[in-house]
Amino acid sequence: MITEQVKRQFIDIVGAENYDDSKAGRLVYSYDATPNFQSLPDAVIAPRNTKEVSEIVKICNNERIPIVPRGSGTNLCAGTCPTEGGIVMLFKHMNRILEIDEENLTVTVQPGVITLDLIHAVEAKGLFYPPDPSSMKISTIGGNINENSGGLRGLKYGVTRDYVMGLEVVLANGDIIRTGGKLAKDVAGYDLTRLFVGSEGTLGIITEATLKLIPMPETKQTMLALYEDLEAAARSVSAIIANKIIPTTLEFLDQPTLQVVESFVNIGLPTDVKAVLLIEQDGPKEVVERDMKAMARICREQHAISVQVAKTEEEANNLRTARRSALSALARLKPTTILEDATVPRSQIANMVKAINDIAKKYNVTICTFGHAGDGNLHPTCPTDVRDKDELHRVEQAFEDIFAKAIELGGTITGEHGVGIMKAPYVEWKLGKEGIAAMKAIKQALDPNNIMNPGKVFAKSTRKRVVVTR
Ligand SMILES: Cc1cc2nc3c(=O)[nH]c(=O)nc-3n(C[C@H](O)[C@H](O)[C@H](O)COP(=O)(O)OP(=O)(O)OC[C@H]3O[C@@H](n4cnc5c(N)ncnc54)[C@H](O)[C@@H]3O)c2cc1C
Repeated sequence: MITEQVKRQFIDIVGAENYDDSKAGRLVYSYDATPNFQSLPDAVIAPRNTKEVSEIVKICNNERIPIVPRGSGTNLCAGTCPTEGGIVMLFKHMNRILEIDEENLTVTVQPGVITLDLIHAVEAKGLFYPPDPSSMKISTIGGNINENSGGLRGLKYGVTRDYVMGLEVVLANGDIIRTGGKLAKDVAGYDLTRLFVGSEGTLGIITEATLKLIPMPETKQTMLALYEDLEAAARSVSAIIANKIIPTTLEFLDQPTLQVVESFVNIGLPTDVKAVLLIEQDGPKEVVERDMKAMARICREQHAISVQVAKTEEEANNLRTARRSALSALARLKPTTILEDATVPRSQIANMVKAINDIAKKYNVTICTFGHAGDGNLHPTCPTDVRDKDELHRVEQAFEDIFAKAIELGGTITGEHGVGIMKAPYVEWKLGKEGIAAMKAIKQALDPNNIMNPGKVFAKSTRKRVVVTR
């Protein structure tokens, strides 16, 4: 609840044009990309700089007003759904690339910078920022850091965490701290940078980030391996890694996903096969050629029925775009699309793919699977309809079994999409009671009044996903 007096204080800080408590304005920020969650905030506020963020946070801390920091709202774990009201904080004014430092190979940005804009800006200088979530055309760096997002290039280059060198953070009491920096080495104190990466807006507000860049790889090649047998495709993934080759990209799409993607992008993808692997390697020409040959051989040994190397960059780009549009394509099938990201050790990919198909049969639901197979990170995706309560119940049970199977295989409930509200009931399966207690101690120390994105990450009970309305 925001009183008239507090509202006036907010407006004094950001100006009336950057404070919105109209019903329409609040409705826009009542949900994110996660199906089935909606809750109205009390107001939406767009600070213009770190000082304003700090002043707003101080008021919220005094008044116990929840703050939901929000990038583009593309998260898939209900991480920006304001279930406890309060303010949604936008970074649309804090969206500048502040510096590209070619001597230290770093880029310093504000949180609202769009991921692809950053990638293009550094590429123009012959530099490379590898993290490439499929949502990169719209996602922000602030969101990427807080979800520790991954992408198609994660297998070889790692995820967002591996590129965050320093942060400016506004803490829940309004203090502004700086962690890390442009330093290749720095062990002065706890690694606070890593603590904030993946913290889902629950520990503080990131107002600036210094990210690592690397030189652009010289060349790149892309190929598609086709399979009549799902598990043979999954086995190829483990075999490639076991042969000590780390490709840039090793993505898996099953037949239902392929068919839907092809009808969406229309680039002539083979839709009559059971699965494909999209494989890329980059680096010096001779290394790329050697690795591509070896991977083609391995795929054939694992019974790929065809291995095709993209002949032009346009063809390669079409394949990448097709893979990146998998979720958008699947979302056209039914009114509701539930996508998860259970992750297992790479060696268990074949077992996980088989388990997902068995679980789908058991509950009589459709599950299409694609994902970053090289990372062991699969996206079982269920087209459904929230109005069909019976089917939704079976879908929930199927996903619960999938999470349990992932844990049983030595994996985790989420590889890159975060916990938010969606997966909060399952975190204990991964961390145990003691792990949750350690996380709660950190949260309590940094945010004793629980104003930073409350209701996320920590489950209130073991209840499953529910529609939340306020
Ligand atoms: C079509 C589609 C494809 C996707 N593909 C991928 C993929 O390939 N890989 C992947 O990892 N994810 C993917 N995602 C999920 C999502 O895009 C990522 O999690 C992304 O990083 C979210 O960015 P955002 O700007 O939308 O952040 P939001 O969704 O707005 O926020 C994400 C989290 O960050 C917090 N936050 C945002 N900004 C700040 C800040 N400045 N300070 C503190 N906290 C903040 C929020 O509170 C929230 O907890 C996909 C989503 C969609 C819809």
